[in-house]
Amino acid sequence: MPDPLFPALTSASGKEALRFGEQALTYTELAAVAGSLAAELPRDRVAVWATPTLHTSVAVVAALLAGVPAVPVNPKIGERELAHIVADSEPQLVLAEPGVELPAGLADLPRRDIPLTGPDTPLTEEPDAEAPALIVYTSGTTGPPKGVVLPRRSIATTLDALEDAWAWTADDVLVHALPLFHVHGLILGILGPLRRGGSVRHLGRFSTDGVARELKAGATMVFGVPTMYHRIAGEVGGDNALADALRGARLLVSGSAALPVHDHQRITEATGQQVVERYGMTETLMNTSVRADGERKPGTVGVPLGGVDLRLIGDAGEVIDDVETVGEIQVRGPNLFTEYLNRPDATAAALDGGWFRTGDMATRDSDGYVKIVGRKATDLIKSGGYKIGAGEIENALLEHPGVAEAAVTGEPDDDLGERIVAWIVPEGARPSAEELADHVARLLAPHKRPRVVRYLDALPRNDMGKVLKRALGE
Ligand code: ATP
Ligand code: MG
Repeated sequence: MPDPLFPALTSASGKEALRFGEQALTYTELAAVAGSLAAELPRDRVAVWATPTLHTSVAVVAALLAGVPAVPVNPKIGERELAHIVADSEPQLVLAEPGVELPAGLADLPRRDIPLTGPDTPLTEEPDAEAPALIVYTSGTTGPPKGVVLPRRSIATTLDALEDAWAWTADDVLVHALPLFHVHGLILGILGPLRRGGSVRHLGRFSTDGVARELKAGATMVFGVPTMYHRIAGEVGGDNALADALRGARLLVSGSAALPVHDHQRITEATGQQVVERYGMTETLMNTSVRADGERKPGTVGVPLGGVDLRLIGDAGEVIDDVETVGEIQVRGPNLFTEYLNRPDATAAALDGGWFRTGDMATRDSDGYVKIVGRKATDLIKSGGYKIGAGEIENALLEHPGVAEAAVTGEPDDDLGERIVAWIVPEGARPSAEELADHVARLLAPHKRPRVVRYLDALPRNDMGKVLKRALGE
């Protein structure tokens, strides 16, 4: 019998496993409800209508126990994307919170309401570590979402590497406010604490008050996306309850997109805490992290996790060994996915002799810390013979007091090849284009100055707070 994914479920105890608002389950209760639901699931794929609830967590754990591949679906999904996911993943059944209305796109599937209590049931033998466990759709930042087939092996591997990097234990209590249909919120945020035998307090909806309250009540860790840390950075100045609560946290972790250095620094100044940044993706789960006991370097995503091989590849396919030289990140290791669902072409194109091409560009310093420059497709601007990463310009712009949010893209230019365009959400008095260009030139270099500045009320972002660069300008 393979090692169980959740040893704490087999040795169930009265310890609280998951809490969502007023609803909570102990390990004993979770073992009963997930075990009994697992026993009655069909052998085929199931969709889970992934509201940010205890129900979704129960359904996913049940599917994992049963070895039934689960497809978490964003409950705010649009019609077209839902139709694509249903046709692509062909679920036989949809598991949903009782009373929640499902869209027409799921009408052809039998529905099973997810229970929160169940009879004690012996946990079924856990299935093959290589069999598909979850099918998670990518965020769709660069194109239509792709279904990523993840085996139990990837999930266990990544969670154990994070245990090591973050000194993560059964005593950790996680404050969680992320959605449950992506890797960050579901695999790290729910399955992670359950594998460790720890506890989760989910806020339902993110609020800085909720974070402060849970930390004060004994929570030890926070997992968030940069937009959440941006909110925290904006409210944490001075002596207040939020700063006080954050000071007592064991670990603040950010991921899913780059954490602006400015926000990192504001949080450190106010609380003494240095946010730990980690880098991962649906296809590889987690690749790198700053270690809990290691040096924290703002603007970097740390070092490769245990078991992960990481290399940088140059334009001509050469392996880059020099420090501070940009290349595409490729990774290899037991954390990798099996394949893109129904996309053998895309799977083959993503792999380079066992190495996964992440599409993310980065440099490494002499300590091996990885610094992400941006995505190859959207964030690398070729201007005047230079290759310029959007990320560092965005970080520089955010240091200007008149800038609340910033995104940088390239646009075709007759002279330069591409020109740098800054998309700005101003704060207070709107800074002029010239002032912003001078600010960037002074902090970075003259060739990195934005040639065009466009002002917006808000940046287009997806539900993880990732900026949708392909939607800029539309
Ligand atoms: P799609 O593949 O559909 O375009 P996506 O790549 O955004 O969408 P995910 O798999 O959810 O979908 O996100 C992975 C990507 O998120 C990475 O490739 C990387 O670009 C970005 N990312 C994750 N963590 C970080 C981080 N700490 N810093 C910078 N970027 C990050
Ligand atoms: Mg991607």
